[in-house]
Amino acid sequence: MEKDCIFCKIVNGEIPTTFLYKNDDLVIFRDINPHAPVHILIVPTRHIRSVNDLTGEDAKIVSDMIMAGKMMAEKEGISKSGYKLLYNVEKGGGQVIFHLHMHLIGGWKK
Ligand code: 5GP
Ligand code: ZN
Repeated sequence: MEKDCIFCKIVNGEIPTTFLYKNDDLVIFRDINPHAPVHILIVPTRHIRSVNDLTGEDAKIVSDMIMAGKMMAEKEGISKSGYKLLYNVEKGGGQVIFHLHMHLIGGWKK
């Protein structure tokens, strides 16, 4: 838990958020400012700043995040049409919230 981290506050309930899925290791909720018809965030409960801070010990959470993205794409009905799983890394990569998260984006009309 990092003081002043918005996603830590979402994880611990300080900022009320509707979770689409939650377990001890990650939470999933809709992006507040969606860039596509489906825009979902997959967020580890543990505070990790960015992809740059990942170590070999984090391999499980990273694979869990990707599997969760796949599961949510199926739930949202966008598996077949296709989607993006995206990590923005640090300021130059477009990262605004410095608590690791993966975007699931899709649902565009063909
Ligand atoms: P980044 O640019 O850091 O990869 O993406 C952060 C994302 O978090 C942005 O798409 C932004 O809209 C979303 N976001 C920021 N604050 C909140 C919030 O309080 N609730 C939700 N649901 N999404 C948020
Ligand atoms: Zn955090």
